Amino acid sequence: MRKCPKCDRRLSPLYFGTACKYCGVDLLYYHFDERLEQDAQKAAAQQENVQRLLRKLPFYGKKRDSR
Ligand SMILES: [Zn+2]
Repeated sequence: MRKCPKCDRRLSPLYFGTACKYCGVDLLYYHFDERLEQDAQKAAAQQENVQRLLRKLPFYGKKRDSR
């Protein structure tokens, strides 16, 4: 069931408009924005994890120090 992300009202699955008919929020853009933010946060967290892992590897640290 599709729900409006802003006003939380149910939208018919057959309703393909791009704006909520109750509060008028732009559904496509609202979702898109939210997803972008989540993706960015996820990517940042993953990058941090990767860098933390890399720092734990001794050869990675040595390579960087010798330069
Ligand atoms: Zn709405």
